[in-house]
Amino acid sequence: MRVETMEELFIGQIQDLYDAEKQLVKALPKMAEAATSSELRSAFEDHLQQTKGQIKRLEQVFTEVGKKASGETCEAMKGLIEASEEIIDDIKQSPLRDVGLIAAANRVEHYEIAGYGTARTLAESLGLTKSASLLQETLEEEKGADEKLTELAVEKVNPQAIGAKTRTAR
Ligand code: FE
Ligand code: FE
Ligand code: ZN
Ligand code: FE
Repeated sequence: MRVETMEELFIGQIQDLYDAEKQLVKALPKMAEAATSSELRSAFEDHLQQTKGQIKRLEQVFTEVGKKASGETCEAMKGLIEASEEIIDDIKQSPLRDVGLIAAANRVEHYEIAGYGTARTLAESLGLTKSASLLQETLEEEKGADEKLTELAVEKVNPQAIGAKTRTAR
């Protein structure tokens, strides 16, 4: 489909986010299950619940622009999720695998932060006030998830992974 207006471009961005979130609803339970740290598992489970709410917000955005909620496969998210699957395949359950899972998940969150930031700004430019504030809410959740993961890495998971390595080496 040819894109000729700002509104059409905006809708394409929302469709991409919609598909990306739907992919994440399937991926996050697998990431939670693959985690070693119970805190990391809870972080993924909490973000799964948030993600379901984010899908609802995107549906409200579709309503504001008078479009049926639909998505076009987000190839970028597909690739990011494949990277997390590779981590699970390559590293046995351990703190080291948690470090890898967090690395993959931070990439996911940054991709979403970019997507929601842009979509929010487009909505503002188009005068779609309701959509802009819904997208802003999700943007803040994505930033929070990213920060939470980094904090877990720094305070728990990275030191555990280094400690575990040192113990087996001696
Ligand atoms: Fe999300
Ligand atoms: Fe995408
Ligand atoms: Zn895409
Ligand atoms: Fe997210």
